[in-house]
Amino acid sequence: MPAGYRYPHWLKKWHSLMDLAAEGVPGISPDIQIGRMKNCAGNRSSCESPYCPACSGKNYHKLQRRLMRVAKEIPQSQLRFATFVIEDCSGFELRGIAKATSAIARDMLRSVPSLNGWFMRQEAKPSSPGRYHPHIHVLMDVKAGYSSGRNCMSVLKWRGLWEAALPDDLHSVQQKPVVIKSVYDVAGIVKYLCKSPWSKAHGETFEEKLLSVIRISDQISDMARLRRYASSGTLSVTSDN
Ligand SMILES: [Zn+2]
Repeated sequence: MPAGYRYPHWLKKWHSLMDLAAEGVPGISPDIQIGRMKNCAGNRSSCESPYCPACSGKNYHKLQRRLMRVAKEIPQSQLRFATFVIEDCSGFELRGIAKATSAIARDMLRSVPSLNGWFMRQEAKPSSPGRYHPHIHVLMDVKAGYSSGRNCMSVLKWRGLWEAALPDDLHSVQQKPVVIKSVYDVAGIVKYLCKSPWSKAHGETFEEKLLSVIRISDQISDMARLRRYASSGTLSVTSDN
């Protein structure tokens, strides 16, 4: 920790709660995964545990800066924000399903000729205890031919492609499994696409905070070693080390 840097109080609270919750989460070992986390502020000598709110925040912030660097070069009228939804699943199935569907989504995006580039983020929102609502968010840079002509795309066309690509049992029963939106606030969308699982952690009371920690640590362990994003063309994010 650099001289003069104070270990923030709010982090200390999350870290001690994670330490407490870890006992109940199968697969989290204090020796390996959270041992160094207890006083980590996510800076140079950070612990890099996936369960560390400071390190997670830092890494997603880095990703956000890399994506913003390429997105800000693209005229706003060329950007679209898409969401592709998969049927809800259990925590046991999540890793396999998320892996398969992100490969399917990558192939689908590559097959559309009216895109200059895309950035894709795999997400899973807890829907009820032990269940997830997996979905994919994509920021797309579209070509002139996206809106008219032979290679034009519409929500209906995207929906057709998505449903044809997914196995039957993964089709979402949700009314709108595909949503495509214009982008008015590039920085806001980039921030949203690169949010850490901790970004929504909240709660006033000790019990509410502990519940958030249990939910987030379950989610991190269910999604362990999954590739969370992919990118291509004009929206390729490059490493900044
Ligand atoms: Zn850390």
